Amino acid sequence: MTEQLFADVILPLPLGDMFTYRIPADFQANIKVGVRVIVQFGARKFFSALVYKLHNNMPVGSFDIKDIDAILDPEPIITPAQIILWEWMVDYYCCTMGEVYKAALPSALKLESQTKVSFNPNFNMPVDMPGEEEALLLMLQGHGQANIQSINKFLGKKSALSTLKILLEKNAVLIEEKLADSYSAKVQPFIFLHPKLANDNAIREALESLKKAKKQQQLLEFFLAETLYHEEKRPNIAKKELLEQSGISDTVLRTLLEKEFLHLQEIEVGRLDFSSDGEQKIFDLNEAQNKAFSEIKQYQPTGKPVLLHGVTASGKTEVYIKLIEEQLALGKQVLYLVPEIGLTTQLINRLKRAFGDKAGIYHSRFNDSERVEIWLNTLHEREKSFEIIIGARSAALLPFRNLGLIIVDEEHENSYKQFDPSPRYNARDVAVVLAQIHRAQVILGTATPSFESYFNVKTNKYALVEMKERFQNISLPEMVIADVREATKRKQMKSLLTPDLYDSIETALKNEEQVILFQNRRGFAPYLQCGTCGWIPKCKNCDVSLTYHKHLSALVCHYCGHTQSLPDGCGECHSEDIKTRGFGTEKIEEELSLIFPEARIARMDMDSTRAKKAYERLIYQFESKQIDILVGTQMVTKGLDFDHVSVVGILNADQLLNYPDFRSFERSYQLIAQVSGRAGRKNKQGKVIIQTTQPKHPVLLEVAEHNFIQLFNRQMSERQLFKYPPYFRLVKVVLKHKNRDRLNLAANQMAAKLRKLFGFNILGPEYPLVGRIQSWYQKEIWVKLERDQKLMSSKKKILEEIKSIKTQPNNAGLVAYADVDPM
Ligand code: ADP
Ligand code: ZN
Ligand code: ZN
Repeated sequence: MTEQLFADVILPLPLGDMFTYRIPADFQANIKVGVRVIVQFGARKFFSALVYKLHNNMPVGSFDIKDIDAILDPEPIITPAQIILWEWMVDYYCCTMGEVYKAALPSALKLESQTKVSFNPNFNMPVDMPGEEEALLLMLQGHGQANIQSINKFLGKKSALSTLKILLEKNAVLIEEKLADSYSAKVQPFIFLHPKLANDNAIREALESLKKAKKQQQLLEFFLAETLYHEEKRPNIAKKELLEQSGISDTVLRTLLEKEFLHLQEIEVGRLDFSSDGEQKIFDLNEAQNKAFSEIKQYQPTGKPVLLHGVTASGKTEVYIKLIEEQLALGKQVLYLVPEIGLTTQLINRLKRAFGDKAGIYHSRFNDSERVEIWLNTLHEREKSFEIIIGARSAALLPFRNLGLIIVDEEHENSYKQFDPSPRYNARDVAVVLAQIHRAQVILGTATPSFESYFNVKTNKYALVEMKERFQNISLPEMVIADVREATKRKQMKSLLTPDLYDSIETALKNEEQVILFQNRRGFAPYLQCGTCGWIPKCKNCDVSLTYHKHLSALVCHYCGHTQSLPDGCGECHSEDIKTRGFGTEKIEEELSLIFPEARIARMDMDSTRAKKAYERLIYQFESKQIDILVGTQMVTKGLDFDHVSVVGILNADQLLNYPDFRSFERSYQLIAQVSGRAGRKNKQGKVIIQTTQPKHPVLLEVAEHNFIQLFNRQMSERQLFKYPPYFRLVKVVLKHKNRDRLNLAANQMAAKLRKLFGFNILGPEYPLVGRIQSWYQKEIWVKLERDQKLMSSKKKILEEIKSIKTQPNNAGLVAYADVDPM
């Protein structure tokens, strides 16, 4: 091999350019594209960088090229396919390689000087530990943690990264933010029933003896319900889970342990969940599913992405399972993308049942060592590896070696789009490119296609496969539009419920069927208002009203989290007449409990699912009919499959329709159709009640007739007329500053420059819906670009303008970036 003198490397920094380093002679034999190297950057900082290119071209104009300090990996940790994908992302999303590198790699694989390191308490130090490693471990044990810079100093080395890498591989140290995560512990305390309570009698006596100690009794009862009396009887429960879910304190638990009612034992928990319940169940497809299956397969050789448009409960998941099975038989890997991994309990269980330990989950909330293991597991073939990766958007950035199929489930969901930080990519679109690179098949599945994807069908870029019937020919739900204004006029409203909705709920409860109610606002009331002067309490950091949360008895900002106590009176006129306005999920829950005192009501939103496993618990309780009415936000619209839901209510459709955004009709349709899809999935037809003051609204009529095509066609002509996607490409230029005047100056200047370049296809600058968030004022300029060859060069021009405005000396403190295909 000829010698290469230089390496261009990617640094985990938002810097645009490649950085060139010299390759010392003794590294020549081992350096490869895709391995990590340690390089010095700036006066004192060291980074692990990725080798991107090897070459012999002396960089022009540089006089001081530094040497590479060390090579970290014997073999590349990224694949050539990834480099192609990253290059595409850089061009398409106006971002840098460094940003993609940062987003893609788990932090343990991209050590930086500031990275914090600590001793892993579960590590047993062997006697033959090399001196330097041992010294470092002892230091970390003593200090708790240290950053890499101070470790360098401690070891008297220019860079300690290679030593750290060895310790990481030995699992002797832990990296940074994941320290706090108890999941990184390999041993966890679990609570068992004490052997003394071996029979019902003993249990009864124990409970009896606690009559005067209510908390202890509660905790013991809770434990029994979670283990012995749970449907899937289990022997124990993790201590942490028990305390979190019961909300009872550690001291109470300790007393029960002392009384020998309960028993604590440390159990080893594997870091990766290779578990499965071994059922390995895969259904046979019915006729409609078989038809979809073979249609999809027909497109395999063409490389065309397939949009699978199947109504809710048509059985799309089972079709995916068959396709996955086939890929596995061919020895190929499968990527299964979901919008939010936290909300996919049911799907994950389904896939685990079908594929057991071949399915692995990639979760940004997993701790780093787990993510590193999945990374390496995807990269290298091992004795036991995951062949199916289920994950949210960042799973598309894993190092697949042999990808055969990508499924993008619920492709219409906007959580596929990353908002912050850069790269602001849409994983659905990245998946399509990734599939192309691997010559894999990609399937975008949904009951409510995004207009972008459907447009791609119309323009022949994607193939369309349809499933128009529900599994077992259950009818789609009956849709009723309920006129709130009319009912109010006639004084027929029962609190927030129209007679239609009230009657339907009552009937459902009588028949022991379940109800889902959807309201896209959490909290009790969206805002408070003074009845005398109209004053509304607002967030001090954001231009937005505060939401009233009754159970916290506080006002909360949904943008920055700022929380304050309730006002005694009006902030302007001191009147004590403060009213709640509008209604959120909390209020609905409360009102319902007054109207249907017998019903068991639960709420599913961000607030009620914050505790670990709280979401899974709610799903389980609803599935097992321990809940009659489930009130929730968007969370209840997402892919849930329940057997006994006969009624779905949308409490306020106006709120969706009136949202100021060019996609609001598309979104309204998607949300209503998706939540409606939860009704009547098995056995019988369900019913959906849509409450609105605009009963003749065309979108509501279309959703009631399940007429997606009509909505699509109608909206397409508007989008074309007003130059919106999918006819035009949008790039949103965002500018932020803490000083409003500075922001305005910069935004106006930016808009003028863009107008010079792109003429009339510029909107703004304007404040977004909330013009100030966390003390940052924000303005946006929308650039509408034609879908032609000039697209890439236009984006480059926008980027240049952004760079130039940021570097103006009077613009220190200005944040500016481009968001391509904003959602
Ligand atoms: P979709 O993803 O299209 O909304 P699902 O795949 O969740 O629909 O299917 C709806 C329900 O029908 C699920 O409970 C699923 O288990 C069941 N189902 C679908 N296909 C089959 C099949 N071939 N055999 C048995 N049950 C099936
Ligand atoms: Zn007032
Ligand atoms: Zn705020």
